[in-house]
Amino acid sequence: MSPSLVFTDSSTSTASRLLPFSRTATPFNAAVSLLRSVGPLNVRPFVLPPLRTLSVNSSNNPSPVINDKSGGEACAKVIDGKMVAKQIRDEIAAEVLKMKEAIGVVPGLAVILVGDRKDSATYVRNKKKACESVGINSFEVRLPEDSTEQEVIKFISEFNNDPSVHGILVQLPLPSHMDEQNVLNAVDIVKDVDGFHPLNIGRLAMRGRDPLFVPCTPKGCIELLHRYAVEIKGKRAVVIGRSNIVGMPAALLLQREDATVSIVHSRTKNPEEIVKHADIIISAVGQPNMVRGSWLKPGAVVIDVGINPVEDAKSPRGYKLVGDVCYEEACKVASAVTPVPGGVGPMTIAMLLSNTLSSAKRIHNF
Ligand code: NAP
Repeated sequence: MSPSLVFTDSSTSTASRLLPFSRTATPFNAAVSLLRSVGPLNVRPFVLPPLRTLSVNSSNNPSPVINDKSGGEACAKVIDGKMVAKQIRDEIAAEVLKMKEAIGVVPGLAVILVGDRKDSATYVRNKKKACESVGINSFEVRLPEDSTEQEVIKFISEFNNDPSVHGILVQLPLPSHMDEQNVLNAVDIVKDVDGFHPLNIGRLAMRGRDPLFVPCTPKGCIELLHRYAVEIKGKRAVVIGRSNIVGMPAALLLQREDATVSIVHSRTKNPEEIVKHADIIISAVGQPNMVRGSWLKPGAVVIDVGINPVEDAKSPRGYKLVGDVCYEEACKVASAVTPVPGGVGPMTIAMLLSNTLSSAKRIHNF
């Protein structure tokens, strides 16, 4: 089977994960399969707040979160990621147009998809659509499952050298016969829009250093905090989860913003006691409704990254998506909380577009 190269496509990478419940041939399991891959992303010299230099449509501007929950009926503000992501896409579309008119350059994102996983294909499709919506060119390479590592790296090299490509994503997971590190390391750091290159992560961790790209999901979490005027400096933050793609970079980002950060993971004893002290919680675990209202400090701000399908007989699909945090309970205690879906999810793709735009700007000195 020969690889097909399709231009004017788009996309992203994905991380596989195990989700609860495994059965066969049900809509629920289809959802589980789909969600095994989660958003990719990233690019850009790290200067927070990344997108705040772009203007926000004032009529849709999210209002600041009030962190005072003393007295009165408890009802958290909903942090509307869908709405913020739309604002960001509009801002990016305007910038893309400006760049095209000024210097004739259109940002381009290339995605390499290996194998036939439906979830990965869906992700790639969504990213292509997102690129189209803001005027970013997308390029897609689809390779068969039995491709060799060298074949994948050959396409990466071509995109590394292609001046019309400003961001490269290798959709994860790769087939098991490939060494993911070898493949990802082949992506030129200046086009590493997922931000997973060790140099980018290393710079993120170091004082006085700036990564070219920050992983998109954690970047989206911080952007939500900024857009809702949540003060981070001097606050106690807890990140639940320490994965390379979400938890760990989220903790680094919060620290760069002068929060005092604790990380909770699967070996942490009494996680609720740690979470209880947090002004800001970012949860990226993959366990439905694990964080209860009783874990939260009154007035805390909760960013729920988790996307977990749970069976729901009332839904025509047989399942619904929930976060790591019990939303109904959190709403009664927190001052602000992201919903699932409609919270962090849409921000991930918006950050990918943002990173691609930033990459093009940097490469063309615009
Ligand atoms: P992951 O790689 O599986 O990492 C999960 C992390 O949670 C690990 O660090 C693990 O600890 C920790 N953990 C597991 N069980 C725990 C427990 N009972 N208590 C405390 N910590 C626990 O997952 P991920 O890729 O970071 O994704 C996490 C969730 O975010 C998933 O639901 C995923 O679907 C979602 N996600 C959403 C987006 C988006 O765009 N919205 C993007 C990416 C991921 P150890 O390190 O000790 O194993």
